Amino acid sequence: MNEYKDIWVFAEQREQRLMNVSLEILGEARKLADKKGVKACAVLVGYGVKGLADELIKYGADVVYVIDNPLLKNYTTEGYAKVIADLVNELKPEVILYGATYIGRDLAPRIASRLHTGLTADCTGLDIDENGLLLQIRPAFGGNLIATIICPERRPQMATVRPGVMKKAPKDGKRKGEIIEIQANIKEGDIRTQIFDIIKEAKSKVNIEEADIIVSGGRGVGGAEGFKLIQQLADALGGVVGASRAAVDAGWISSDHQVGQTGKTVRPKLYIACGISGAIQHIAGMGNAKTIVAINKNPDAPIFKVADYGIVGDLFKVIPALIEEIKRIKN
Ligand code: FAD
Repeated sequence: MNEYKDIWVFAEQREQRLMNVSLEILGEARKLADKKGVKACAVLVGYGVKGLADELIKYGADVVYVIDNPLLKNYTTEGYAKVIADLVNELKPEVILYGATYIGRDLAPRIASRLHTGLTADCTGLDIDENGLLLQIRPAFGGNLIATIICPERRPQMATVRPGVMKKAPKDGKRKGEIIEIQANIKEGDIRTQIFDIIKEAKSKVNIEEADIIVSGGRGVGGAEGFKLIQQLADALGGVVGASRAAVDAGWISSDHQVGQTGKTVRPKLYIACGISGAIQHIAGMGNAKTIVAINKNPDAPIFKVADYGIVGDLFKVIPALIEEIKRIKN
């Protein structure tokens, strides 16, 4: 156990672009590594990705391990799991963190299984206890309690973290670090999946996780038609549309807009909640927004407890007035 040290982050890239969540968890890894007095390292896997290593250093990595190989051009579970597990067996990190993206959620359990270690999914907080163990904090039982999970007997300790939960460290152009190229021990036969073509979804999914302004609608919006008004306000502000689960479950808007415990975690500069009551599961996804504005006709709605600005009123009257005022200011 004592051989294991350093905090690693799986630096996920797609088409040679780093995912925001990787930089967010790198910011957290930096803090944890400083607390333990070890290195924060990033593991960058792909083909033609070496150029991204410098960016990872600027965001807090001491060391970037680059595994660059034509067979790793596209993500495959077997290819990525093999090269990362091999590197873990060789270098023995104490902790590995992954973004809870589709890829992270697919990859981390495979690596955990190869290494016979544990994995905590969807952590909302991480810390180090007095014995140096990783505290993996996440909501449990429908958000009714917060569980702190530890992995005392196996290494590495592994967790996935949802996008938007952690904060990126400020980019430091002067930071220096080490880039270490690793020769992947991989051959075609190691990957049983063959990717012939990647077809992007015709309809681009909304990326609420990276938006600075989100206007969200809930059951109070009353129907799909009502979301047109939410969209108009979002357009006037240059933002995107979010939604509560009640609105998604009712089929008024697609699930990629859902904010909350079972939706997305967002951290915009401005979050406007329209006709949303403010259930704990919704707050779990947007409570860290910089400024929260709530529009609700019920003055006792719990959303007002987390809102910086509250407007008690009918959203069908308040939103058109807001749009008009925004347009007036813009002109
Ligand atoms: P409601 O609670 O019905 O609130 C509607 C609000 O609109 C009311 O406050 C009302 O006063 C107001 N209103 C009505 N008409 C108007 C009007 N004309 N103008 C202004 N205000 C008006 N929820 C999520 O959002 N995200 C999640 O990820 C999520 N995950 C969950 C996971 C679990 C395990 C469970 C058990 C629940 C989860 N929920 C989630 C559901 C959550 O508990 C709430 O049921 C949901 O958030 C309620 O949505 P809402 O606020 O839109 O609807």
